[in-house]
Amino acid sequence: MSGERVDVLRLGYRRGRDPRITTHLALVGRAFGADRFLLAGDEDQDMFDNLKSVEERFGKGLECEYIKSPMGWLRKFVEEDAGDGLPGVAVHLTMYGEPFREAIPKIRRDRPLVVIVGGAKVPPDVFKLSQYNVAVGNQPHSEVAALGLFLDSWHGGNTLDRKFEDARLIIEPSAKGKKVIDLDR
Ligand code: SAM
Repeated sequence: MSGERVDVLRLGYRRGRDPRITTHLALVGRAFGADRFLLAGDEDQDMFDNLKSVEERFGKGLECEYIKSPMGWLRKFVEEDAGDGLPGVAVHLTMYGEPFREAIPKIRRDRPLVVIVGGAKVPPDVFKLSQYNVAVGNQPHSEVAALGLFLDSWHGGNTLDRKFEDARLIIEPSAKGKKVIDLDR
């Protein structure tokens, strides 16, 4: 996507319970304009391999990285270095936050952004370190829905036009059936 880098940081991943929803988070991040998916909690190479296989078939758009110490990583990101020696902006998605459509116009766009999604229990420091605690409605629902709505709004509703590099499979929109071009054939 155009503009500064957008990361998604998934906290508290549990390998036994969360692979499906966390894969969906990464895929929604990829489809809706995130550049990197950062996983904290348990390591899971199998999940990263699955995501890599999607990228090999449908094109490259999302880098995946495991973050061993997410709170240290976040503190550094917001206070010192978002990758280029200057601080970045953290948005924490939480049902306790301010309405996302009101928050988005206030968020600076000239710095890398990390969108933080919680796990089973969110450490209180996430609320303190994030410059924005943002709600997608004030009801509990799904991190996948919250991320999709936030990213779509962040990118002004243009996320679904995203182009992916080196795609082998290209889906042709069709009102009936499946039309897929396989460039290897
Ligand atoms: N029990 C967790 C807690 O202590 O906050 C919440 C679990 S919830 C299923 C997982 C994540 O979904 C949350 O941390 C948040 O990132 C996201 N989420 C759920 N509902 C949300 C909402 N209404 N607005 C924004 N994010 C939401």
